[in-house]
Amino acid sequence: MPLRYFYMKTIQDFSFKDKKVLVRVDFNVPLDKNYHVTDDTRIVAAVPTIQKILNDGGSVILMSHLGRPKGGYEEKYSLKHVVSCLSDALQRPVLFASDCIGAPAGQAAKDLKPGEILLLENLRFYKEEEKGDHNFAQKLAGLGDFYVNDAFGTAHRRHASTAVIAEFFKSNKVLGLLMAAEVDNIQKVLHNAERPFTAIIGGAKVSSKINIIKNLADKVDHFIIGGGMVFTFIKAMNGNVGKSLVEDEMIGNAKEILAICKENGVELYLPKDSVCSTEFSENGSIGIYETTAIPNDSMGLDIGPKAIEEYCQVIANSKTIMWNGPMGVFEMAAFQKGTEKVGRAVASATDSGAFSLVGGGDSVAAVNKFNLSDSISYVSTGGGAMLELMEGITLPGVAAIEE
Ligand code: AMP
Repeated sequence: MPLRYFYMKTIQDFSFKDKKVLVRVDFNVPLDKNYHVTDDTRIVAAVPTIQKILNDGGSVILMSHLGRPKGGYEEKYSLKHVVSCLSDALQRPVLFASDCIGAPAGQAAKDLKPGEILLLENLRFYKEEEKGDHNFAQKLAGLGDFYVNDAFGTAHRRHASTAVIAEFFKSNKVLGLLMAAEVDNIQKVLHNAERPFTAIIGGAKVSSKINIIKNLADKVDHFIIGGGMVFTFIKAMNGNVGKSLVEDEMIGNAKEILAICKENGVELYLPKDSVCSTEFSENGSIGIYETTAIPNDSMGLDIGPKAIEEYCQVIANSKTIMWNGPMGVFEMAAFQKGTEKVGRAVASATDSGAFSLVGGGDSVAAVNKFNLSDSISYVSTGGGAMLELMEGITLPGVAAIEE
């Protein structure tokens, strides 16, 4: 467990002996066509919280969503498919209730004994879950006598099981270990970063990262920009971006960010050069160009060698590093080098004592692809929730516990 920077009550502050503890987890895991879990990261991440409750002599009732069902049972979204994976992770049997409310859930919860684990069926088989329905939340709340929220991945949603349910628990509600660690690490970076602090922001679009950049603009020393969003900035500076991805409607915002950075003395790095192709695939004609002078028939799909060198140097000199979003289309081998090199630079800066936080689905996928996760100080499990915390938004799932 990392050091707790902000004091929040977590399950470590309670004993759960003989308690039936309702735990909201995020088991929204990928399944293959035979319904086998292909990435158990989120299941493994929930184990410490479950284990703590069991070790205290309590029992655990797990609730989660899986996928995006249309509001009714769908075989491919049944949480029964994760039971054996969860059981393997916990080295214990896991019971399953074929509904999350009603008789199946009620009876199974009633029969549950200390040391036992019950997983409820997918909450999103009821539309009421995402609507934050009060009655539905009350039915869920009736199943246990303590509420723990450990679902960071959905903490930015005000759903029945993530926020509304907390109203039915007065003092017997608390954040789980995963959730507390996530919030703590992100808050530490936002409010107590050792300098120089570098934020590496990549990914496809400026529009999805604009609020993060604005919120960080008075906190960081350097922004390193990569990915498709580069070209909106370059166009805002009157460069030639060829066929590269550009959000014309965001050009004004890009100019505003450049101005804010200048005013705050923040260095915003754009790639000096880019690996470009005539097609959005590995089959086009590939060339390296200055990012401000990309030919009309080409698009930038990765940062180039000069940019890699400059970015890696900035990263090596940083004491705090936050990374969200790949530097290029790293899913294709021809355009993965920038993301890989930046990832390796973050890992080696961490080895030399920097604190690094990586979050967002694609950056985490990149870190895993290049086997770097053990060399990063903290890898966040939440995409949207991490972005919203970074944007300075209070998460409903956290606020509901603190109310
Ligand atoms: P995001 O979800 O916004 O972090 O974006 C991640 C996606 O951005 C990945 O799937 C990348 O393939 C894509 N991406 C990265 N660089 C570029 C680029 N230069 N042009 C188009 N897409 C890109």
